Amino acid sequence: AIIEVAAVQPAIRGSASDLYTVLHLDRCTKDWFKGPDWLTTDLNDEKASFEDMPSECIQELRACEKKILGMIVAASGLSQIINIQKYSCLGRVLRVTRHVLTFIARLKRMTASTVMLQAEVLWLREVQSSFQTERKFADWKVQLGLFSDQNGLWRCRGRIQNANARYKTKHPILLPAGNYFTLLVIQEAHERVFHSGVKQTLTELRSKYWIVQGRSVVKKMIYRCVTCHRFEARPYKAPDSPPLPRFRVEETPPFTYTGVDFVGPIYTKDGTGKVWVTLYTCCVTRCIHLDLVVNLFASSFIRSLKRFTSRRGIPHKFISDNGKTFKATAKKIKKIMNHPEAIDYVNESKTEWLFNIERAPWWGGVFERMVKSVKRCLRKSMGQARLTLD
Ligand SMILES: [Zn+2]
Repeated sequence: AIIEVAAVQPAIRGSASDLYTVLHLDRCTKDWFKGPDWLTTDLNDEKASFEDMPSECIQELRACEKKILGMIVAASGLSQIINIQKYSCLGRVLRVTRHVLTFIARLKRMTASTVMLQAEVLWLREVQSSFQTERKFADWKVQLGLFSDQNGLWRCRGRIQNANARYKTKHPILLPAGNYFTLLVIQEAHERVFHSGVKQTLTELRSKYWIVQGRSVVKKMIYRCVTCHRFEARPYKAPDSPPLPRFRVEETPPFTYTGVDFVGPIYTKDGTGKVWVTLYTCCVTRCIHLDLVVNLFASSFIRSLKRFTSRRGIPHKFISDNGKTFKATAKKIKKIMNHPEAIDYVNESKTEWLFNIERAPWWGGVFERMVKSVKRCLRKSMGQARLTLD
């Protein structure tokens, strides 16, 4: 066994001179289980001796050590190892950082548990390093009573030092406004209060952090929150109404432009028991002409239209909603108007029928308002009474 160990050891230690020194069994077993001393010593320690290693090995080790330690020790270099912009939540950033630190700890032969707690502190230190270039930092120091804690983090002295609260609440950590890490911190707090508003998020945040211009940053973040947008979205707002069409403001004889609609049904004692009122209203003067129809068929409406036109003249334009009766009548009227005999008769005033745009009931403002007035008058004067058709 001694010969075997002796053969291996020089290869590890890099020096053949040890071949003769390992003959002691005690030392030999110690080295066999724990490895040579230089493996466990801190590589950053200048005192560490590499005397019994060949110079090329030392050089190689130094180069490797510089690379690793450069990454590990300098807290400000954390963003160079991990691109924080790639992560959408704070928890994931910290988890990845812990994995990286654990890996580094293994390289350094440190215990992983001490490193686990460091992830957040390292990120906070990294974020706070931007204060060095901040012009207002001197003002903040006075205003917020900043002091550096044992981790090297800037904390606010606050005014609730005598309160029975936790240390982190009494002395919140200062965070700059425009940093991505700060945004993730806000987002996490916002989710912890179940997407509540600005005030609640801010209160939750202030139990641990103090963010410069916090309110406006939180507001901005919440404005961009997709969940909040989804649940608090307002329905589509109707666009501003355009100016009134010409036919509603132009001075013309009454009923030149006429709006048509039905009111009802009104219940009667005889007949089918139901009648409707056809309401014709002038678009300009708003005078109304009422006529009774016994049903909503096109034929019935055309008879009513005849009665109306014989009293008030043929209008230039009819405006109505998209009721089936009106559409059928419009078709019939178009047919009549295009008839050679009729063309001569109504040549000068060819009646046109306008329909309200589909799914835009507010367009029918002309007649709907009059319908309301008529209905109110009828209800008040008739009450529950049932009249005969006559
Ligand atoms: Zn939200």
